[in-house]
Amino acid sequence: MKLIDGKAISAQIRAELTERTNALKSERGIVPGLTVIIVGDDPASAIYVRNKARACDELGFASEVIRLPADTKQEELEAVIDRLNADEKVDGILVQLPLPKGLDAKPLLLRISPDKDVDAFHPYNVGRISTGDYGFLPCTPAGVMELITRSGIEIEGKKCVVIGRSNIVGKPMAMLLLNAGGTVTVCHSKTRNLAEVTRSAEILVSAVGKADFVTADMVSEGAVVIDVGMNRNADGKLCGDVAFDEVAPKCSYITPVPGGVGPMTITMLMRNTLYAAENNRK
Ligand code: NAP
Repeated sequence: MKLIDGKAISAQIRAELTERTNALKSERGIVPGLTVIIVGDDPASAIYVRNKARACDELGFASEVIRLPADTKQEELEAVIDRLNADEKVDGILVQLPLPKGLDAKPLLLRISPDKDVDAFHPYNVGRISTGDYGFLPCTPAGVMELITRSGIEIEGKKCVVIGRSNIVGKPMAMLLLNAGGTVTVCHSKTRNLAEVTRSAEILVSAVGKADFVTADMVSEGAVVIDVGMNRNADGKLCGDVAFDEVAPKCSYITPVPGGVGPMTITMLMRNTLYAAENNRK
């Protein structure tokens, strides 16, 4: 069994991004810029936003965090997005979710210019993922693809099973695996005989959000298991969806939690921001 080291792969990609960022600055005088809008005081969101700002600093990006009170009106948020859409120094705009009650995320995500939609949530970018005509890649699934390919694992021709069909993880994950030549099955809470389906996987990606959900009887000998889940166990410790101790001995490769998929997501956000600066700036 080999452990896929998300921290090491993430560091390797960040080094590549730093080189590209330096080249963009020296050759074209462009500093990539990411603006994050955070509304209210959700503690988990505050941590994510801090980590994003830190990643920007590390790579030499310009970063701005716009903090707004929980009682901000929908129209006020729309006006902020309009202003950022028009600001040519802003390459990426991100609205940190979840939003406080009373605010509707969907029209806001639609309002972000598809050219600055570094989360790849806008239907235009979702469509491009579907057709394989990639612009921005969805951050978490793109991170999973990097973990797989940089570990030297072939996807083409493999039976891939994704558990979870959310718009953020499960569906785009399935699409990227399909585009890479995998034969993909997507499972969800209505799937019958789940363990039978997951046992057919040569590559199994779990994005459910339940600790100890994937057990040894659900995994075939030699499978590659990627654990997207971020949960807390009974002791309050961060864990994934996979019952790691019993599943790992059966796997050819497995990602740990923490230290697997987690470190990749922000790195992919940085890559999308840099891509926007490289391709969309005049
Ligand atoms: P989500 O929107 O809650 O989706 C969970 C999916 O799991 C749904 O499609 C659901 O099916 C399915 N599911 C729930 N119970 C199931 C069951 N008993 N059998 C089979 N499928 C079941 O969650 P998400 O946003 O995709 O996130 C999934 C996990 O990934 C969470 O733990 C989240 O924290 C984590 N995550 C991690 C990162 C990272 O950077 N590492 C990023 C994003 C998310 P239905 O559609 O039928 O309800």
